Amino acid sequence: MNNALPDILPPTPAGIDRAARLLGTGALVAFPTETVYGLGADARNGTAVAGIYAAKGRPSFNPLIVHVASAEQAQKFGQWSPVAQKLATAFWPGPLSLVLPLVPDHGLSSLVTAGLPSVALRVPAHPAAQALLQAFGGPVAAPSANPSGRISPTTAQHVLEGLGPNVAAVLDDGPCTVGLESSIVGLDPEPVLLREGGIAREEIEAVLGGPLARPDGDTISAPGQLSSHYAPRARVRLNATAPHAGEVYLGFGDMAADMNLSPRGDLTEAAAALFDCLHRLDATGRPIAVAPVPTRGLGAAINDRLARAAAPR
Ligand code: AMP
Ligand code: MG
Repeated sequence: MNNALPDILPPTPAGIDRAARLLGTGALVAFPTETVYGLGADARNGTAVAGIYAAKGRPSFNPLIVHVASAEQAQKFGQWSPVAQKLATAFWPGPLSLVLPLVPDHGLSSLVTAGLPSVALRVPAHPAAQALLQAFGGPVAAPSANPSGRISPTTAQHVLEGLGPNVAAVLDDGPCTVGLESSIVGLDPEPVLLREGGIAREEIEAVLGGPLARPDGDTISAPGQLSSHYAPRARVRLNATAPHAGEVYLGFGDMAADMNLSPRGDLTEAAAALFDCLHRLDATGRPIAVAPVPTRGLGAAINDRLARAAAPR
């Protein structure tokens, strides 16, 4: 992260081009959408996505919505179906996110999906967001561009005040039409309304020609919040300074281990590697011991997720 203030870029072809290039280098770029300003990173770049969590100071890793330029692009990442097509035709571009099963070889960072086998996809309608996504040509992970727990940003000035030098650039196209968050529909395969948002339930049901299921109490605890998370099948033991017999050992920092979140003790690298490491160690079928990870910076979210993985089930 640099210490300079972000570039404020106009929504001109030159500004859009610069913003797209910055995304390509793994930098964070804030951009306007029809809901709020989003904090964007290349969704295929784990280090860039970890930067989103660091910049926002998010205390936990929730999956992020992946923004793409078109339904055609969305199909590179999410398994398409006739129902997905129906909803995309009716509401894209616009404030609807679809949660679809991941396709094989999707190429997304596992931090974007928080290790889940599904991905939330959306095509935003805002002209500057559209132009940026077309110029970039790839998937952009973007939650709201504000520090965690603070009010959502509807101007470039809000982004500067909240995130300042943690962002490389802000694409400034004036105030967002103060919007609700996107509605989130999961296709699992039956359509479920996972979060109420900018498109009314009734409008979605009219397009589907039938009722949208409500998430069962277990799936969601608060709007937009998952309570069911990726969890390894194996037993997980935390703050282990050495593995016990039979355990696979997940290290952090300079130490001998079966896998290492970051041999050089870098928390951004560790965040980017976290879900892949857990999946791979889980595939060994052995219990997992995890070395202590510091709790500063991104370490808070890493420890939060490790604690959930270790929680008795
Ligand atoms: P935000 O980016 O702040 O609008 O919030 C994104 C929300 O989308 C998350 O908190 C989840 O509720 C939901 N979401 C994103 N990805 C998934 C997924 N793969 N499965 C289920 N819900 C998701
Ligand atoms: Mg938010």
